[in-house]
Formats: sequence, structure tokens, C-alpha cells
Amino acid sequence: MDAAVERKAKIRKAGGGFVVEENVDAVKWPHECVVCGAAPMLTDDINLARKMKNVGQVRTQVKGIPYCETCFKKVKATRRLDMVVYILALVFGIPLGLFFTSFSANTPGTQFVCCGLLMVAGIGIAWLVFYLIIRFPVKSIFKDKFVEETVTASLNEITRLDGSQGFNVSISITRPEYAGKFNDLNEVEPEVPV
Ligand SMILES: [Zn+2]
Repeated sequence: MDAAVERKAKIRKAGGGFVVEENVDAVKWPHECVVCGAAPMLTDDINLARKMKNVGQVRTQVKGIPYCETCFKKVKATRRLDMVVYILALVFGIPLGLFFTSFSANTPGTQFVCCGLLMVAGIGIAWLVFYLIIRFPVKSIFKDKFVEETVTASLNEITRLDGSQGFNVSISITRPEYAGKFNDLNEVEPEVPV
């Protein structure tokens, strides 16, 4: 392979995290578990999808995040727990939102009912309840079975300096030692003061 065609991710620092402007598939990960620093046994990908106003549906992946086996099990356990809380929030939150909607529709003087907002409120309240009665106690009691996500990513819609529309990917790394190594390995551009 010709070295000249090697793709390089264009990354800059922003607000304590990283923003990948180009070639997210070429992001390099320091060869150690992102959570504990042990020798990595496997890698994980983060799938991102978002419908954007100007560029339409965007799908991309942050690939090859290294984990040791122990930490990956704990991360997966946390994801499963989050999924349980999320499903319960929907199952109980949607009827709650419908109840709010019908209640406000029957209240005299309510001219405009923002149905979507009341549904979101219902789901939000249900999520908070299950977070407090399930996720929080389970995680506190079985501390050594769970670990919070160290690497998170999101898609953002942007308008470039030349006025064109596009997107970039934010990556957040909560372990400072790893974030530092990631920074050096990818030759991240320092944050530009605004
Ligand atoms: Zn580990």
C-alpha cells in the first residue's frame, strides 16, 4: 500500500471532548482497554444514525474501540440495564403521556394542547422513576458488575465556514489518561479559543 493514500482522521479538541471533522473510519485507538488500561481482548463499534434537516439521513460508525474482556462484560451489563429502564419508561410513559394529554384536553381554558410535549413529559417522568428505583440501586449494590461507558459518540449537524451543510462526530472519553494518549496518537489539533 502506498503511504500517500493513507487516510487520516481530522480531529480537533472541543469543550473537553474531540470532534472528528473528516474520515471518522480512520480514527486510531491506543492499544489498551479504554476503561482500565489492560491489554485489549476485543473491540467494539458505536453505530450512529440521525436524520438531519439539511443533509438527510446520516449513518456512520466509530469503529475499533478496544476493551479487555472483564470491562467489556461490565459495559454490556450497564447497556442491558439501561435498555431495561428505557423499555419500562416507554411501556409506562406512553400511557402516562396519553393521560396528561386527555387530562389537559378536558381542562377548561386550555386552548392549545401540545400533545408531543406531554408525551415526552410522560416518558421522561417514567424514565426518572425507573432510573431511581432500578438502575441506581442495582448499580450501587452490584458495583463490581457494572461500569459506565468510557467512550461515547454523537452525530452533529453543522454549517461549514463556506456555508455548506454537513456533519461531524463528537467523541467523549471520560478517562483522562486514555484521552491524552488518543490525543497524541491521532495528532489532534488543539482547541481554538473562540
Ligand atoms: Zn479493562
